[in-house]
Amino acid sequence: MKYLLTVIFASTFYLSLLAQNEGKAKGLETINRDVIQAQLEFLASDWMEGREAGTAGNYLAGDYLASLFKLYTLKPNGDEQTLTPNRYQKLLGLKDEKLTSYFQEFSAIEVQPSEAQAISLVRKNETVGFQYKTDFDVSFVSQSRTVKAPLVFVGYGIENKELGWNDFSGVDVKGKIVVRLAGLPGDGAPDSKAARIVADKELKISSREKNTTAFDKGAVAILEYNPQKDEQHDWRANPAFRYNEAMLESDTKPDSFYDKKLRLPSDKHTLPVISISKQMLEEILGEKGPTLEETVAKAAKLKTNSQAVEGELEIDVNAQTKVLGLRNILARIEGENPNKIMVVGAHYDHLGKHNGHIWNGADDNGSGVVAVTTIAKAFVESGVKPQCTIIFALWDGEERGLLGSRHFIETFDEMDQVMLYLNFDMVGRNGSPDAPGNKVAMIYTEAATSLKETSKEHIENFELDLDVNFSAVEKPVGGSDNSGFAKRDIPIFWFHTGGHTDYHQASDHVELINWQKLEDIIKLSYLDMWEFANNPELIKE
Ligand SMILES: [Zn+2]
Repeated sequence: MKYLLTVIFASTFYLSLLAQNEGKAKGLETINRDVIQAQLEFLASDWMEGREAGTAGNYLAGDYLASLFKLYTLKPNGDEQTLTPNRYQKLLGLKDEKLTSYFQEFSAIEVQPSEAQAISLVRKNETVGFQYKTDFDVSFVSQSRTVKAPLVFVGYGIENKELGWNDFSGVDVKGKIVVRLAGLPGDGAPDSKAARIVADKELKISSREKNTTAFDKGAVAILEYNPQKDEQHDWRANPAFRYNEAMLESDTKPDSFYDKKLRLPSDKHTLPVISISKQMLEEILGEKGPTLEETVAKAAKLKTNSQAVEGELEIDVNAQTKVLGLRNILARIEGENPNKIMVVGAHYDHLGKHNGHIWNGADDNGSGVVAVTTIAKAFVESGVKPQCTIIFALWDGEERGLLGSRHFIETFDEMDQVMLYLNFDMVGRNGSPDAPGNKVAMIYTEAATSLKETSKEHIENFELDLDVNFSAVEKPVGGSDNSGFAKRDIPIFWFHTGGHTDYHQASDHVELINWQKLEDIIKLSYLDMWEFANNPELIKE
């Protein structure tokens, strides 16, 4: 009896839902494990060779995804192309034909530090040379550059009001090379005042932020020593003999694909950032200069230790560059009101193949890509024209600097009409093996409260097995392709099932996907997007 009542109740609920919103339910029905698995297994297969931006595997993945959009009968929203007939076709009367492609092509400049890098210290009558990959490594270089300048030690290189801290007070870094420590005051002294403040305020300051501070103040290069890290351990030429590597069964270390950086031609050149060993730090600071120990001890008591360092440093950094062709894949469903646009996106590039290993990137970000394609398919199959226009975007070049989404934002004519962006980046795994299998984070623009409320309603009404940790952020510019949209004050939300031990490893395989969770996240995202695309007033802040 109880079962019968449940069935009757469930059917009544379902019927009323159908009556209310037949299209929404029809679309939802098309989202199932088979559809998701069929796409993801191919996308994360070895044939795609890790989908690294600008490589053949990346192009293959792109063609596959464009063909899915075509199969799902979505309208292309990429570049306008003109097909010009050849001489003979012209004789037959064929004319120029204008076509819109699914591909938005753009150029990116790949920069990689070359083998020859030189740094030397000139002090009094002495010149000390340092060796590349023994004493220092080039963390960032955007072009070949020679710098000769005096040195300033700036402690942690931080200027932060919350902490009441300024490493730059009392020293002039303009035209100089700054030497700094990685991390924050209080590191290495957990009971100190500084450590307590950092913990209380949950203070995080990235190297990138520190770099910006230093360059804004006129520094010409940055040297950083990280006391938490054994740099020389990382530089060793023969570290990987398989017994030492948890993630990679190889006798050689994967070449350092993090060394390769991509930038858009429109980006400004940036100055060199160099990581150095402890020995090099001590050599540079000299016998009379500040020491690491006294800097750490002073910092624990909230005192800075910045000071000029005797001598000059000559830096000669070199980079190899080449120009690559990248492609975003863009499709569109035209809404009743084409002036209101919503974008659903995920990056399809990943880290490629190195030393015979393939970074399949099943979770990062095959999972997000199939979320986008599956939602697009569901919208088409619902048979309903939404109120808003929806653009489905698969970004290239995310792993090397969010290039695809940035290029789109810089060039899209209708950017002012975009009122919501839904991002996916890694939605197919559990944070750790023993974490409950239904946990997911939703990061969203704090002011757009309906993003959370609507998601909560959908989870309840459609009995989705998801335990969502809603994380409201005033301006969620971090993490992924949401960055550029959030910077433009467009409300965003994105799902993320967390980092795991296979993150950015060759072991991010499709067998490890939690299919049930991925399916539920896609369903929830579809239901949310349906609601917002048909009731855009929900998004008004
Ligand atoms: Zn990713």
